[in-house]
Amino acid sequence: MKENNQLKVEDTFGFLWILLLCVAAFLGYRTFTYMQQMPIETEDAALYQQPSVFAHKDRDLAKGSRVKVLKHKYNWVYVKTNEDQYGWMGTWMINSKYQNPVNNLSEATIVIDAGHGGADSGALSTNGKKEEKTFTLRYAKQLQSKLKKAGARVYMTRDSDKTVSLSKRPELAEKVHADAFISFHFDSSPQDNSASGYTTYYYHKDNGSFRLAKDINSQLTSLGLDNRGVDFGNFLVLRDNTQPAVLLESGYINSDRDLSFIDDSSYENKVTNDVVKGLQLYFEGKDENALIANDPN
Ligand SMILES: [Zn+2]
Repeated sequence: MKENNQLKVEDTFGFLWILLLCVAAFLGYRTFTYMQQMPIETEDAALYQQPSVFAHKDRDLAKGSRVKVLKHKYNWVYVKTNEDQYGWMGTWMINSKYQNPVNNLSEATIVIDAGHGGADSGALSTNGKKEEKTFTLRYAKQLQSKLKKAGARVYMTRDSDKTVSLSKRPELAEKVHADAFISFHFDSSPQDNSASGYTTYYYHKDNGSFRLAKDINSQLTSLGLDNRGVDFGNFLVLRDNTQPAVLLESGYINSDRDLSFIDDSSYENKVTNDVVKGLQLYFEGKDENALIANDPN
């Protein structure tokens, strides 16, 4: 009898120990799971079927709910919610500070803006026959294909000869949370054949635009035209842009000499190659020296 009682007491203790371990393991697991999740701190969070704002939106997610990040692509993350729902979210939908690291062109989201288009021809050549809008689109498309080959995600403000309002261009950069915005233009001087060369413009100095301008301008070499340097430019597509943005004036279309370069495929090829190299430096975090034409600060 006495031995049996002893055994029962030991059994009860053993059982309690196992129960306690199970509870601890369960709580530990719950805490671990909780720690792996991120709280949603914005009002515009939602799950999308693909990593794109243009993809189908499955459902909205409430502020304060939690998600676990399973993988990422560009500036998007694939998540699992507490209710076991899966989908893609822009990193900015979780909170404004959360970002996937972009250390390489292959991780970047880039908006290319072909200046003018459609009803807006832009500047004209001295004989009036060549239009700026044709060249901006040509250069934009060539850069698009090179950036895509490098693995970047590319959006175009236009990919055909159509009219696009000025304000829509920076809006696209903001909508897709672009890591860089590149606008193509060709200059024009008040008098024909009175100016020459290429200029790299920025507007915002502190949001990456200035460094991006320097990194790109530092690579625009051996083009055969004068480098007019990095300059401050009060252009709407730069000024109203929340993302790092530059505008490239790659020669004067109303200079016969510059036009012979602009219209030449080897010049075009060099320009777009150099822009790719400049972007790569920018995403590697480099701050290259460049010729500064005008520094308002
Ligand atoms: Zn222009």
